[in-house]
Amino acid sequence: MENQDLRYIHTEKSHNPKRLPELYDKKEHCCGCSACYSICPTRAIAMQLDTDGFFYPVVNAEKCIRCYRCEKVCVFKADQKKRNYF
Ligand code: SF4
Ligand code: SF4
Repeated sequence: MENQDLRYIHTEKSHNPKRLPELYDKKEHCCGCSACYSICPTRAIAMQLDTDGFFYPVVNAEKCIRCYRCEKVCVFKADQKKRNYF
């Protein structure tokens, strides 16, 4: 999977049996709108620049409480699912 390691930050305290949110699998599945970043209640998401100058969300697994608000707010993701892009 493309850039899988870049989507998360793991620490020693980041273990949690619940899955981490999956905001995008390929870069074309994220437009960098930062809605997920804005809604996260624990500031677990950072928007980071890639080498091409585009912002992508990175989830800090230690700060993430697995509420999945970030997945639900992602209109871009919902639209792509509706169009069967996944
Ligand atoms: S809300 Fe969706 S499209 Fe917007 S930055 Fe987050 S993952 Fe990307
Ligand atoms: S699941 Fe909740 S806590 Fe974790 S990154 Fe998404 S909005 Fe933040």
